[in-house]
Amino acid sequence: ACLNRIEAVDGSVKAFLSVDREDALAQARASDERRAQGKSLGPLDGIPLALKDIVAVTGQPLTCASKMLENFVSPYDATSVEKLKAAGAVLFGRLNMDEFAMGSSTENSAFGRTHNPWDLDRVPGGSSGGSAASVAAAETILSLGSDTGGSIRQPAAFCGTVGLKPTYGRISRFGLVAFASSLDQIGPFTRCVEDAALFLDAVCGHDPKDSTSLPDQKTDFLAGMASLKDRKWKIGVPKEFLAEGLDPEVRASVESAIEFYEGQGCTVEEVSLPHSSYAVPVYYILATAEASSNLARYDGIRYGHRSEEAKDGIELYYKSRGEGFGEEVKRRIMLGTYVLSSGYYDAYYLRAQKVRSLIRKDFDDAFAKVDCLIGPATPTVAFRAGDKVDDPLSMYLSDVYTISANLAGLPAMSVPCGLSSEGCPIGMQIISPVLQEAEMLAVAKKFE
Ligand code: GLN
Repeated sequence: ACLNRIEAVDGSVKAFLSVDREDALAQARASDERRAQGKSLGPLDGIPLALKDIVAVTGQPLTCASKMLENFVSPYDATSVEKLKAAGAVLFGRLNMDEFAMGSSTENSAFGRTHNPWDLDRVPGGSSGGSAASVAAAETILSLGSDTGGSIRQPAAFCGTVGLKPTYGRISRFGLVAFASSLDQIGPFTRCVEDAALFLDAVCGHDPKDSTSLPDQKTDFLAGMASLKDRKWKIGVPKEFLAEGLDPEVRASVESAIEFYEGQGCTVEEVSLPHSSYAVPVYYILATAEASSNLARYDGIRYGHRSEEAKDGIELYYKSRGEGFGEEVKRRIMLGTYVLSSGYYDAYYLRAQKVRSLIRKDFDDAFAKVDCLIGPATPTVAFRAGDKVDDPLSMYLSDVYTISANLAGLPAMSVPCGLSSEGCPIGMQIISPVLQEAEMLAVAKKFE
């Protein structure tokens, strides 16, 4: 059914970069056989799950929507992929994204933009735009994305799906192509809250192959969420998230969601995250610094695009990178190299690390008073394609509410909470203390 749906709508949505029909059907048949033979079934057995083109699956393309990796095929499975396979999921299709996950609209893909299924002239958000659009357009049941500074929650909000970024370290990053390693996390796009819990149950857990993976995790999210069904939550609303720059329709939807919680017997109080106005600048220093280092591996020698024009070794390096990377990626590498360079390191990189600690502390202070935070996921609904693509700064600002959860390593999710007068989805963001995904899912479930 998903393959037929892709055939019918993906010509206009363009969520997928590639789909291997035969391989998908073979996996689905294998699941049918397991069922017919009465074998034990995994929690996601036979469920179609499409993947952002940034996570490694043996034998599948892994392009990161970049010319640099246009013909690259992965020789191994990411740990998350191994776990999803063990859970029985049908892992099919490679989903479009901003090149190397840098962007907020999926317009930075080297292979063309993805369209928002609710209004094809608008962007689906990014960088996991294909992951959000494919679930919203019912081309797949589940999809996997990655979130470094909002790239799951912002597109989920723009496309009206559930999107969840777990606590940093919950899901192994082994086999996830690195953008900014201290911020990157894998997470699901789903049509309902329960499916997000199922995904986490299948994928979370310690992985010795990822040194930042958390040890000794308790991971029974589905049951944990259900057991918290009747909890009367203490909800904090960060006043900085309802300030200037917020679209009035987004504000109204989020405020009425908050009123819903009050009606359910939850308490709501205003809290403050005084350093949140520094989140975007801090993020764009740290993320670009880490990216400049991570992307040094694309040298035209070991793998990826190799220039045909080069006359010597140095030129091979310059030309391969010059031809292989798109504009935004080059901008980030230059910014990142600059903030790490001697003489500027202390002024930018080190300073940003210190402010990152203050941002984290703001959350600790808030969570001393409340169970979770609720606010808008994005300042506006999905914008029109072309509106921000030539203005990186205004593009960067579409992540103002999502980025601080990455800087603090916190779990956060976006849940649909209404439609604008023009019929565009609006997302509410829930942010919880570290490792409290079950609590966060229970808060989301109450609203659903
Ligand atoms: N939009 C942000 C950026 O461009 C976040 C990207 C992400 O989360 N991968 O960096």
